[in-house]
Order: sequence, then structure tokens, then C-alpha cells
Amino acid sequence: MVGTGKVGTGSDKYRESFARADVLLRGIADGVTVQDREGRLVYANDAAARQCGLPDARTMLAASTHEILDRFEMQDEHGAPLDPALLPGRRALAGEASASLLLRVRDRKTGRVWWSLVRAHAITNEGGVPELAVNIWHDASKEQRQREAARLLADATSRLAASLDYSDTLVSVARALVPGLADFCSVDLLDHGVIRPLAVAHADREREQQAQAFLASYPPDPDATTGVAAVLRSGIAELHPELSPQRAGTVARDDRHDAAKRTLGLCSSMIVPIVVEGKAAGTLSLATAESGRRYDEDDLELAREIGRRAGTAIAHARAYASAKMAIRSRDEFLAVAGHELRTPLAALMLQIESLKLNMKSGVLARDPERFAMRIDKSFGHALRLARLVDGMLDVPRISDGRIELKREEIDLSVLVRETCERFADDATRAGSTLTVHEAHACTGHWDPSRLEQIVSNLLTNATKYGGGKPIDVRFACARDTVTLLVEDHGIGIAAEDRERIFRRFERAVSERNYPGFGLGLWITRELVLAHGGSIHVTSEPSRGSTFTVTLPRRPQSG
Ligand code: ADP
Repeated sequence: MVGTGKVGTGSDKYRESFARADVLLRGIADGVTVQDREGRLVYANDAAARQCGLPDARTMLAASTHEILDRFEMQDEHGAPLDPALLPGRRALAGEASASLLLRVRDRKTGRVWWSLVRAHAITNEGGVPELAVNIWHDASKEQRQREAARLLADATSRLAASLDYSDTLVSVARALVPGLADFCSVDLLDHGVIRPLAVAHADREREQQAQAFLASYPPDPDATTGVAAVLRSGIAELHPELSPQRAGTVARDDRHDAAKRTLGLCSSMIVPIVVEGKAAGTLSLATAESGRRYDEDDLELAREIGRRAGTAIAHARAYASAKMAIRSRDEFLAVAGHELRTPLAALMLQIESLKLNMKSGVLARDPERFAMRIDKSFGHALRLARLVDGMLDVPRISDGRIELKREEIDLSVLVRETCERFADDATRAGSTLTVHEAHACTGHWDPSRLEQIVSNLLTNATKYGGGKPIDVRFACARDTVTLLVEDHGIGIAAEDRERIFRRFERAVSERNYPGFGLGLWITRELVLAHGGSIHVTSEPSRGSTFTVTLPRRPQSG
């Protein structure tokens, strides 16, 4: 008799041999079973029992073949249901000398999934007829999981790289992860601080709709201590191997919530952050239900890696979108710049042309005043051209934060007066009178050319958008600051535009009526900020606008 009790009834003639073999086989990692022609187990070692989730070989042998088979769902390596006739033991008994198969096994009770590489060979009687099949069960779960993880990761990665539309790619990744890694998979993204669901996937359409309805009725609670909102706040992934209704943060909010949760029947879940530029910009949530699978640390690491790759894909897509936008802005800018530069250039060429003609005819020699006037006009056009070019050259400098101030002690009243004098002609041409009020001396430590640029830009706009009406320039000198106001009575600015017009290329008028770059106020604001000051506008549409610049008189420390 076999002391360890690992030999079943039947096949008595082999009893002795099994007993001897058991001494060797009890210690090995692979499971070994022997079955007779009726499919009954006649021998098993402890490793075989453990693979089947049973405590020992004795228990395994005491169970009927049906009992054992009913406990498990057997699938081929691709997850398709397996015809028991294809099991290597059956094949060996049917005459195949040796047969092997990779099996995916799921314990119906616990949901545990494992892979076994089963090899079988037959023991034949004297007449060469197979009597017994010896099965060797090698637990291939680790290799198989690694292979499956690598496949899922490669698939997710290629989907993420397939398009620069990251909404589409994330939806497709969620779909690709069911049912391989999850029964349910969802993606949420943060959109201006609000959690927005992007995708919910389940291999079965009806179950997917259930999940969608559930999430629509019970969106993530932004204050919950676990779940999507918590992962978005902390950037730390969550693993819930065993979901129980009592788990903190998931307690049912009401009876309907409880019922909906039961319908979904989640049993294990993990939530990983989708990190973009160091911040959690979304989450990837994976959950199991009907498969009964329980997640572990290896699954979490795979999910984390997919989350990281999704984050990289989003960052690339965003960088691409902003590069595209920058190229479009640049093209628009060049088109407008060309148009803007042409106007003073054409006027300048016209002046030079007429100077040439008048010189030839001798008119200018007889009329030096007219000559001087023409030269002045030409200079005016050239000046406008120079200002436009300066503005264009400022763009990259200011964009890169490379404004260098050459501060010196100056009197703002003098600078404002001189600048206004230079603008007097422009204002007159635009039908406006330009008045500088109470310009008392007010000294400060500023960059004179940049200050002149600030005043010029505001005056240019006042004459452009307030032509035909008076323009007033005031300033108030306080102990530490000076405030400059440029007021016109022109077209004004709608409330919704008052913030954005200070941004680059932002305009609140049509190019046809008022050509321009949309750069003047942006440059002005950047120069004011570089001086430690501030600028804002008050306005009423059709009534006019007042731009107020406040500058500290001395550079502020720190
Ligand atoms: P540009 O004048 O070349 O368009 P700016 O940056 O100087 O560029 O101005 C941006 C926009 O702000 C203008 O297109 C216009 O819509 C609005 N704006 C600026 N100044 C005034 C003003 N004084 N009155 C009305 N609208 C103004």
C-alpha cells in the first residue's frame, strides 16, 4: 500500500509503481496526474492538487472527475472554450503517443485564472493499447501573464501612436483592454478642473450601456477619499484586489445606487493616473466583474505603464496641436505684416517718386518749403515702417521673456509731451485733437525708449479707434507710482473683449475695417509688467475707452 495515499482505486497492477514514483514526484513543482481509460484519476501528486486549488493529493483523488472538471472553466490559450476531447490525456489514451496543450483555466468559484502547459503520454499494455495517461501540468501562468502583458502593452502603445487625436486613441485603448485586462475599462479626463468621462468599455454592448448609465447617474464624487477624484488629486494609483460594498468611499449613496452597483457586480478594480507634464490629467480605471479575476501588483504595474504611455501620447498630441497653432498664427501674422508694411511703403515710394519728378522739373529748387514738407512726409512714412518693424522684432524677444530694460532717471511729463507732439500730425489727420493735461514734472527710473513705446502704442490705438473725436492724455504723480491715462471717445470695446485684447494676436475688430497685428497691447502690457506696473482698460462700446497704466517710480526689490 502507498503510505501517502496518493493513489486512487483502479489499475491495481500499477499500484506499486505509483507508490515508488510518488517518492520522487511528491517534491517536484510540476503537477503529475495519471488517469485511466474511463477518465478516473488513479494518481496525483500534491503539486497537481495545489494547481487545482485543492489542499492535497488525497482530497483531489477523493473527488470525482466530474466534481473536479465542474469547478473549472477550461479555455484554449486564446480564451475560447475547450472541448474536453482535446485534453492531452484524452488524446494520449486515444492513441497519440504524446500530446501537449496550453490551457487557460479559471476557477469558477474564486475567479482565479492560471495557465497550464499540459503534456501527456500513454502507458500501454502488452498489446500496445493505451491503458493509462500520465499528465504533467506545468504552471505557465507567470510566462503567460508576462506574454499577455507585453501583448496588451504593445497593442495599447500602437493604438496610442496611431493618431494625434488623443480622445480617439484613448477610447480605442479602453476597448483594447477588455476583456484581456479588464471586464470594464473607463477613461476620465480633467477638463478645466472638471472630471469628464471619455470612454467606457465592456466586451458586451449591454453591459457597457449599464456601466455608462451608472456613471452618468453617479459621476465620480470630487471629494471622495478614494477613486477617480482621489487619484487625480494625488497622482497615486489605487489597487482594490477585493471590492466589497463596505469599502470606504464606495458606500452606496442611496438604494438605487446600491442596486445599480449590484447589477455591475464589480469584484476587483484599479485606477491609475494619466500623467501629462508631471500632473495627473486623467485616469484609467479597470475593473473585473463576471470574470471574477482579482488584480494584483503585477496587474497594477501594467496598468500604470499604460497610463504613463497614454500621458506621453497626450503630451505629444498637445505639443503637436500647439505647434500647429503657432504655425498658423505665424502665417497669419506674416500675411497681416505684409499687408501692414505695404501701406507705409507704398506711401513712401509715392513720395520719393513725386520728389524725383519735381526735382527733374525744377519745382523743388524754386520751392524749398515744399521740398522740406515732402521730406518730412517721407520721413513720417519711414518712421511708421520702422515702428512696425520694431514691433515685429519685439515679438520673439518678448515671447522668450528677453526684455532688457535700460533704466535711467527721466521725467515722464517731458517724455509724454514729446511723444504727443510727434503724434499731433497723426491725430489731426485722424480728425482728433490731442490734449495733454496738467503735465507736472514726475521723475522715475524707467527705460525711456520702452516708455515711449508704451505711450506711442496707446496713442496709435486712440487715433486709430477714436479718430474724429478728442483724445486726452492725463497723468497723476504719487509718491511711489505714476498713473498715465489715455482716453478716447471712439468705438469702445465690448466687455467680453477687454481682457483678451491684451493677449498676442487678439483683436476685437475686423481686419477689413481696421488693419492691424493685434500685437500693440500685448507688447505694451509686457513692457508695463517688465517695469513692475499694471495696465487695464475701462470702456463703453461706441463711447470710447480709457487705458490706465500704473508704474512704480523706482524698481521694486525682489
Ligand atoms: P491692433 O490695433 O494692431 O489690432 P492692439 O494689440 O493694439 O492691436 O489692439 C488689439 C485690439 O484691441 C484691437 O484690434 C482693437 O480691437 C482693440 N483696441 C485697442 N485699443 C483700442 C481703443 N482705443 N479703442 C477700441 N478698441 C481698441
